Amino acid sequence: MFYDTHAHLNAEQFKDNLEEIVKEAYASGVTYINVVGFNRQTNFLAQEIAAKYDNLYPTAGLHPNDVNDFTEEDLVTLEEYVKKEVTVGIGECGLDYYWYKDNKDKQKAFFIAQIELARKYKKPLVIHVRDAFQDTYDIIETEMKKGAFTGVMHCFSGSPEMALRFLNLGLYISLGGPVTFKNAVAPKEVAKIVPLDKLLIETDCPYLAPHPHRGKQNKPSYLPLIAQSIAEIKGISVEEVAKHTTLNAKRLFLQQF
Ligand SMILES: [Zn+2]
Repeated sequence: MFYDTHAHLNAEQFKDNLEEIVKEAYASGVTYINVVGFNRQTNFLAQEIAAKYDNLYPTAGLHPNDVNDFTEEDLVTLEEYVKKEVTVGIGECGLDYYWYKDNKDKQKAFFIAQIELARKYKKPLVIHVRDAFQDTYDIIETEMKKGAFTGVMHCFSGSPEMALRFLNLGLYISLGGPVTFKNAVAPKEVAKIVPLDKLLIETDCPYLAPHPHRGKQNKPSYLPLIAQSIAEIKGISVEEVAKHTTLNAKRLFLQQF
């Protein structure tokens, strides 16, 4: 049994075949899926889609790549979603300096606003970081001193040293398709060092399809390929990876165990 902790079934790409995609996921052992929102439209769709199928859970968040479009009003709408019992996490949120470097202050402000919601509603953050690890770390470390919160570093692309620093803050590390890529060094090193009780897995579909589907459209039923790679790297069985990552995800998002 697998838990895909990060799937954008609310993306345009799944509009016409969602039913089939979800059935395929169940059939491949992917029993639980978080449908991750990232702006007004996808937060709304995450709620709608998750309500339709068993064991699908919505998150709601404001993504750093869309931050130029966001206003205070988006934070008000976001809080309405976060308040709902069905919403299992806040995000994606975070910092991304790969696409935008000229709006760092606004990115930081929206990230901190979502940290405040995580603290207020005791829900985990789904954190996206690209080319902004130090600033992300600094914000989380500073904010944790003001009051505890938890979360996951989604599709972690940083170094093993950075992974250890986030683990030391109590956060989970999630790995996706890149861990299966032949030329990917850092994700494999990270897979080696993340303890089994802090590891999550995800597809981040429709993006980042795992080997041998790299470059194609990703989907939750590919998740076992990611678990298989991690199992090989860690020298354990895929069942062990499935068992631990599912337990971890249930602990973090469903507040079970
Ligand atoms: Zn994502």
